[in-house]
Amino acid sequence: MAGTNLINRRGALIGAAGATGTLLAGAAAAAVPEIDTGRVQGGQVEFPAWTAPTERPSGGPPNPMPVSERVGFAVVGLGRLTLEEVLPAFGEAKRSRLVALVSGTPDKAARVAAQYGLRPEAVYDYAGFDRIRDNPEIRAVYIVLPNSLHKEYTIRAAQAGKDVLCEKPMAMSSAEGQAMVDACRAAGRKLMIAYRCQYEPYNREVLRMVREATFGPARFIDAVNVQNQGDGAQWRFKRALAGGGSLPDVGLYCLNAARYLTGEEPVEVFARSVSPPGDPRYAEVEESVTFMLRFPGGVVANCATSYGMHESRLLRVHTPGAAISLDGAFSYHDKQLRITRREGRAEAVEERRIPMLNQFALELDHMAECILSNREPHTPGEEGVQDHRIMEAIYQSAASGQPVALPRVEGLDRTRGPAPSS
Ligand code: NAD
Repeated sequence: MAGTNLINRRGALIGAAGATGTLLAGAAAAAVPEIDTGRVQGGQVEFPAWTAPTERPSGGPPNPMPVSERVGFAVVGLGRLTLEEVLPAFGEAKRSRLVALVSGTPDKAARVAAQYGLRPEAVYDYAGFDRIRDNPEIRAVYIVLPNSLHKEYTIRAAQAGKDVLCEKPMAMSSAEGQAMVDACRAAGRKLMIAYRCQYEPYNREVLRMVREATFGPARFIDAVNVQNQGDGAQWRFKRALAGGGSLPDVGLYCLNAARYLTGEEPVEVFARSVSPPGDPRYAEVEESVTFMLRFPGGVVANCATSYGMHESRLLRVHTPGAAISLDGAFSYHDKQLRITRREGRAEAVEERRIPMLNQFALELDHMAECILSNREPHTPGEEGVQDHRIMEAIYQSAASGQPVALPRVEGLDRTRGPAPSS
């Protein structure tokens, strides 16, 4: 019986092969429609829409630049942000590529270099950092070090002839930040601060609705960025390394959001700061800060930040016609955008889903585009200096219990370069 089955199966297989041959011959004879094959136009691979106009467009192939034409980045500091977000983001970047690493930990650096296909010569240590000058593949340096080291490595990178992308907060104070701006200008190099949310599609959609006054002018902004911080040994609890506690680390996102949504600079701040008494983690830096910003156009922003509360990252804009609410506004990934407004006799709650794009890849590519086209970054050093000035006023208000006035700045977006193209 088994033998018969085998013969039968073979027979069936031969039959199937014959049928397949017929199908292939038929396919070769028919022209494949362009909608299936796509085409190359202006150096880009394109596919015509294959879904009906009722469906969201897919966005198409990313069409990255050829690798050899992309801007080469050296990433300085192999900590969590670098390993968990920045290096993977190069895989989604279109104009940027990773060409070097800087680390003080040789075995980690060697391992990471191997993981990302870098040669051992592309790994630098801090003492040998200035040798990046001799590596023409490195056009930009991305500084992802503890805050106290941003100034030194920004200035050394600029003096080595490289453009600089620096993590937030840009420095320990506005004076340090200004020194970084001045040093980069003197060296003829660009300086961009890594305000990723200003490149992220959900935040940009809220920005669009606020600037176009889609539901009327913004009146109040609520911004919350809190997280529950763990072990006390980390640099974030040391004033000499961090410059402050939750405010410069995560509260900065609330402050920066209120500024980029309105485009204005606050004329007054009022703040309170609290830390749990006796908790050694808060011997040098604060746990929580709430602060109010008053903008010249009439918007008031209420902001709260903390190292002692379960993660919550919320941005809400109140306008006469609708409440715009972005949950996860400052997160790396999950976001939920809701618009609540009247719909006849009902209150409509509309959720808007926007294709998620990697915000680290977007900011890397913005920096690369600015280098390639010699443009000023959207978030240059001046944007970071202004945040430091306001944080200094926030600390002053929290210490005195009094509101602190800030100089009036005329016009919109005075510390920003042209908006990102994508
Ligand atoms: P981390 O502690 O995980 O990494 C810091 C790295 O710096 C480590 O590899 C460490 O070895 C190295 N380092 C070099 N000299 C050091 C020193 N003297 N003391 C301590 N570490 C030293 O920190 P992180 O979370 O990656 O943060 C790095 C920077 O990135 C900070 O400025 C932070 O504010 C910023 N950051 C930004 C985001 C964002 O979403 N944009 C998120 C997290 C962190």
